[in-house]
Amino acid sequence: MAPISGAHFIIFPFMSQGHTIPLLYLGRLLRQRSIAVTIFTTAGNSPLIRAILQDTDIKLVELLFPKEIDSVPPGVENTDKLPSMASFLPFAIATKNMQHDFEEAIQNLQPVSCLISDMFFGWTQQSAAKFGIPRLVFSGMGIFSTTMCQILSIDRPHAGTVSPDSPFFIPDFPQLKLTRNDFDPPFCDIEPTGVWVDFMVEQVLAMAKSHGLVVNSFYELESSYVDYWNHKIGPKAWCVGPLCLAKPPSIAAVEKPLYMKWLDGKSAKGVPVLFVSFGTQAEISEEQLHEIAKGLEKSQVSFLWVLRSKGVEYLQGVENRGLIVKEWVDQMEILQHKAVKGFLSHCGWNSVMESLSANVPILTFPMMAEQHLNARLVAEEIGVGLRIIPSNGSVRGFVAAEEVEKMVKELMEGVKCKAVQRKVEDIRDTACAATEEGGSSWRTLNFLIDDVCRKRLSQSYSRSPKNEEFLGRQDLRSINSI
Ligand code: UDP
Repeated sequence: MAPISGAHFIIFPFMSQGHTIPLLYLGRLLRQRSIAVTIFTTAGNSPLIRAILQDTDIKLVELLFPKEIDSVPPGVENTDKLPSMASFLPFAIATKNMQHDFEEAIQNLQPVSCLISDMFFGWTQQSAAKFGIPRLVFSGMGIFSTTMCQILSIDRPHAGTVSPDSPFFIPDFPQLKLTRNDFDPPFCDIEPTGVWVDFMVEQVLAMAKSHGLVVNSFYELESSYVDYWNHKIGPKAWCVGPLCLAKPPSIAAVEKPLYMKWLDGKSAKGVPVLFVSFGTQAEISEEQLHEIAKGLEKSQVSFLWVLRSKGVEYLQGVENRGLIVKEWVDQMEILQHKAVKGFLSHCGWNSVMESLSANVPILTFPMMAEQHLNARLVAEEIGVGLRIIPSNGSVRGFVAAEEVEKMVKELMEGVKCKAVQRKVEDIRDTACAATEEGGSSWRTLNFLIDDVCRKRLSQSYSRSPKNEEFLGRQDLRSINSI
């Protein structure tokens, strides 16, 4: 396929690490194909972005982050610095105030071939339409969870359930059994209402009007859900991942971080290590953290725990076999270290992609957002991990130390671990093949570039029946405002 001369993509990631990092890797992949790339961010977020992109000529445009947002402390420009998740929605809604500056900047950057912006920036659909630029939406989620969330809101297969733990089936996927507790409040309610619902409806409407979705996954991993989405829901999903495989090797630091030296020591002695991390957003009670620590300690397994929870300075009893790290780490590099043989993870989608790409099985401990659906996919659908079950038997609830201990041992040395390890190896190989020249993600990215750059925008909108039905059901006033 001939390179597109003069193509220029602008990328606007949401200010959360899990939404920003994969889009920076996508920027690299575009740049490797001679596409000019400009990334939009804010002053508070640009240092990390500049560090990750230091070896590229990708341009950065800094917009002013809105001031005086209710419950967001001054100076906070990333959701990982929010005092609690209760501030997430005011933070996300306030980004609408960036629209004027955003559009002024686009005006100065013309010609622009395509806008890739976060799902939470539904308002950018209006900006893209003003300039006649196709918008691709990035949500940070895989296509299985995206599809399940849409099926829940359109087909309502959960409508007859009596309790949040009652199983229900998805008619088009009879092998799947979900519960309302697999979805975050308020979406687990049969008739969800409130500000979160209003906000998400706005984002989904904007997505339905967009040119497509760019997805950090690969076709072979979620093929039946990709096909279903593209035929029955839409707009078209383009799987171009795992994007973490576009991460270049770390630039050798003068001195290795302590945690990498610690891992070197473990591998020199042939000691397998469990990596433990619950991402950048999850709020975990102190009681739950202590229970996890107790379980890890009793498991007798060596572990490296990246603990970003605020206010927990000391955890009893974990110093002997474990290393607790409080700083920002290179998670991908840790997962790729030969000592690391398992990952106790909250199942943020990037962590899932990174773990599978590094050939590391996952012990799932989902907490929020779409992580429960990711955990189902990992443990039940694909078989690349095992699942920790809360004491109440639901998918949500307090997890006892004994369960942590039992499942950590099972993942690291139990009878089931061999089959899981074999499956992970298969998936890792498929993921690598997908991103290599000629692979499914490699080709999809080329098709996507060709599609947005060569086709006339008016010809390339594709609406599917469910998408139309969803749009049709919404209040006309809110549609017109997007
Ligand atoms: N991450 C990292 N170092 C850290 C903490 C997180 O590199 O110390 C990265 C991690 O590799 C992943 C992202 O931050 O790319 C977190 O995204 P994920 O979807 O796993 O979880 P979230 O934080 O969004 O819940």
